[in-house]
Amino acid sequence: HLPGDVMEELTGAQLIAESLKTQNVEYMFGIVGVPIIEVAMAAQAAGIKYVGMRNEQAACYAASAVGYLTGRPGACLVVSGPGLIHALGGMANANMNCWPVIVIGGSSDRNQETAGAFQEFPQAVRASMYGRPGACYIDIAGDMVNAKVDRSQIRVVSCCPDPPVSLADHGAVAEAVSVLKTAKRPLVIIGKGAAYSRAETALREFVETSGLPFLPTPMGKGVLPDDHPHCVAAARSRLALLQADVILLLGARLNWILHFGLPPRFDPNVKIIQVDLCAEEMGNNVRPAVALLGDINAVVTQTLALQSTVPMNYYTVFHHVSQLLPHDCIIISEGANTMDIGRTMLNNYLPRHRLDAGTFGTMGVGLGFAIAAATLERSNGEKGRRIVCVEGDSAFGFSGMEVETMCRYNLPVVIIVVNNNGIYSGVDPETWREMAKMGDLTSIAPPVTLLPEARYDEVMAAFGGKGYLVRTVEELRSALELSLTDWQRPSLLNVLIDPSSDRKQQEFPWLTRSNL
Ligand code: ADP
Ligand code: MG
Repeated sequence: HLPGDVMEELTGAQLIAESLKTQNVEYMFGIVGVPIIEVAMAAQAAGIKYVGMRNEQAACYAASAVGYLTGRPGACLVVSGPGLIHALGGMANANMNCWPVIVIGGSSDRNQETAGAFQEFPQAVRASMYGRPGACYIDIAGDMVNAKVDRSQIRVVSCCPDPPVSLADHGAVAEAVSVLKTAKRPLVIIGKGAAYSRAETALREFVETSGLPFLPTPMGKGVLPDDHPHCVAAARSRLALLQADVILLLGARLNWILHFGLPPRFDPNVKIIQVDLCAEEMGNNVRPAVALLGDINAVVTQTLALQSTVPMNYYTVFHHVSQLLPHDCIIISEGANTMDIGRTMLNNYLPRHRLDAGTFGTMGVGLGFAIAAATLERSNGEKGRRIVCVEGDSAFGFSGMEVETMCRYNLPVVIIVVNNNGIYSGVDPETWREMAKMGDLTSIAPPVTLLPEARYDEVMAAFGGKGYLVRTVEELRSALELSLTDWQRPSLLNVLIDPSSDRKQQEFPWLTRSNL
């Protein structure tokens, strides 16, 4: 020290407390005794909240729950011997749950004294959070608690950053997507690893744009709400597990909670796509068809990026349309898949705001209904409610010429043609050209097909309305946003989707009452 320097002395207890605080450890649960009373007091002085408990086991449960809920470990403070032994139950539980926690135990005095041991805090924080989270133990020698050290002697180690996020192998993600696409009875299982990785936003997008049903494990509940339309109700979970042919396992283990992934609760031939950040977990009890090693949130986002490429499917289109439609719009809908899937995905909130093919199942009613609704809105004065007409391409064809009527009267109807090149399904332009080369199309073209990529948008444009050709999510969103603000004239979005896009098992027909 230079003469005149003021020494700032710290005790070991203060140093422990400050180290924890530097690591963003905000909560400490424990039971004090010699030699760690001073540690608890110093923790409070450093701004850490200390909760005195009645048994170390409960203290450790509490600290590990903080770890699960916040992603940073809670601290558990115990005395040596019985204190630590009681805490062991909590440590084992935290390890099995993959929850980060740091247990600090005070033990007997040592003969020699160093400050270096406090380096162990950042290490313990890292070990508890990185890789598969779990419990860590730090043993504090009794004499270190009250030993003094000059602050200038301390090497401050900065806060350990949150764990690096790892992505799964790109090829494996592509394989997983193709396995999912061929599934007849797919199921997503959401575990507490998905909760821990905060995957809720990506997961919702994934489930809604893919149309897949999901089943939460006990602690996976709430990552997506239990009353979500794709949630397989508890009463049906047995069947969902048993009959699924492909299962996407997101942060859950095939242990007793999931009946080990084995018969009689599971199909012996079920293909598991396993997503976990712990490599050792892969293949426990069931060998996965595809193993995706990485963070759930990151892997789900990767999967989304792959499957939401062009062409879109019905679920992707309706997911985005439903996000943009005003609450009070009048929805007119007709078509086969378009009307069926639209009924489950486009919500109504008000009476008499939905008109569709009706009792007689009539196709071609949509544009007439829309003209009626728009005429009524106009006679009610100012802008009024939006009239949105969601049409299959075949259904649109029955009365498509009525767009001229809409243009003639400047009725600002928004028409969305969900165009799959046919009735129920169609073919892509390339296949169509191949077929045309092979012979007379009237002999070989499947009767369900319509002209691939027909430009219905240009029909609207021909009369002065606004036509949009839409292939991507971005184009869909921007065209719909523009149409919904245009009150001068009608718009038509010609949304080209995958011609083989079909209705997914999203109504879970294999899980209906009659099968129970
Ligand atoms: P549940 O009880 O809901 O079935 P488990 O505890 O059995 O869940 O499984 C959770 C799995 O999640 C563990 O295998 C763990 O390695 C994994 N996990 C934890 N956090 C993440 C994460 N961020 N990303 C991927 N997997 C994770
Ligand atoms: Mg589990």
